[in-house]
Amino acid sequence: MTIALAPSAGVAAAFAPRPVLRERGQREVFCGLTGIVWLHRKVQDAFFLVVGSRTCAHLLQSAAGVMVFAEPRFATAIIEERDLAGLADANEELDKVVHRLLSRRPEIKLLFLVGSCPSEVIKIDLKRAAERLNGSHGGVRILNYSGSGIETTFTQGEDACLASLVPVMPEEPAHQLLIVGALPDVVEDQFRRLFAELGIARVETLPPRRSKDLPGVGPGTRFLLAQPFLGDTAQALEARGAVHLPALFPFGAEGTTAWLHAAAKEFGIDEMHFRAVVAPGRERAKRAIARQAERLSGKSIFFMPDSQLEVPLARFLHNELGMSLVEVGTPYLHRAHLAAEIAALPADVQLSEGQDVDKQLDRVRAARPDLTVCGLGLANPLESEGLSTKWAIELVFTPVHGFEQAGDLAELFARPLVRRDRLTV
Ligand code: SF4
Repeated sequence: MTIALAPSAGVAAAFAPRPVLRERGQREVFCGLTGIVWLHRKVQDAFFLVVGSRTCAHLLQSAAGVMVFAEPRFATAIIEERDLAGLADANEELDKVVHRLLSRRPEIKLLFLVGSCPSEVIKIDLKRAAERLNGSHGGVRILNYSGSGIETTFTQGEDACLASLVPVMPEEPAHQLLIVGALPDVVEDQFRRLFAELGIARVETLPPRRSKDLPGVGPGTRFLLAQPFLGDTAQALEARGAVHLPALFPFGAEGTTAWLHAAAKEFGIDEMHFRAVVAPGRERAKRAIARQAERLSGKSIFFMPDSQLEVPLARFLHNELGMSLVEVGTPYLHRAHLAAEIAALPADVQLSEGQDVDKQLDRVRAARPDLTVCGLGLANPLESEGLSTKWAIELVFTPVHGFEQAGDLAELFARPLVRRDRLTV
């Protein structure tokens, strides 16, 4: 079914000519618990306690791997069958588990109770549990969010986690820049250096590396989204008076320049100074991208909906690497946050939102793109049909933002094509 969008006022120009295929059928995506894999590495004194089933525990264990040298900072409180039957007081059990955990692990300063499909089905109220437990464990802050797989996709776990932090951010009236989204430390440091060189003195990040560094928020806060999947977090920040700076997302030379420029403009940075500061990084990014363009230019790519990074990545691959876009599917199309991205796509691109996996696989098979970006479960069947694939989840686990990572980002897409060439020689 193809329908025309009903655009909101501010983004009408970007959307007016673009039809979007909207599908609501069977979907193949991971659930929001997956976000714990990168969030627990980012916030170094946080612990993620999933209240879920053995399936949830298996997902986490296999996605995050086993930590050999450190105690893990995530676990699953398993809801047993007797809990499902209502024979045990799940709240009492949960309180005991939290108490045992926090007594044994004094380094934990922030505990997330993470909801799952089972905890939602039997309606364990984790918000109330967090409120009940808060304050009874010294200085440990206890919050909750849902990572459930019902009607969600895996990057929404980060959105829900960050949104849960916003209400406890202190009030901050100062004019400051807030970078929103969990970036690898090395990438965050690069951005901080660039903002310092530009002359933006006060830069904070959400999430912080340590819970005591949770930034403040208020009407002076201007925020840049580092990821396109943070709709709820952005809304919560706006409710606290913060103002979103619309921009392309910082992928590739073009996206990173535009993203930095949005902040520079807001903070009154002189245009010539801006250009002088970004020029070296931008040139390095362009050179690194050019090395991969030889391999990728003219190749076709099909994005199945998975990470919600699809639209910015499609823009990068088309505009900076010359790839042709067969279909750009995304689980949710955040019309306001993606307005600049969509405006930067070629006019005839097929955008799709949601999924009906069998129909979409038929379109992949009909188009036979050079590369298909999809979830793990779809990659093997497509590879067996002779189609090259890229796992979407790898794009979230790998440092890909900013000038210095632009070449690596391009290479992630070139690698499957190189591999196939080698196999077919
Ligand atoms: S939260 Fe739901 S979808 Fe995710 S692992 Fe647990 S049961 Fe499966």
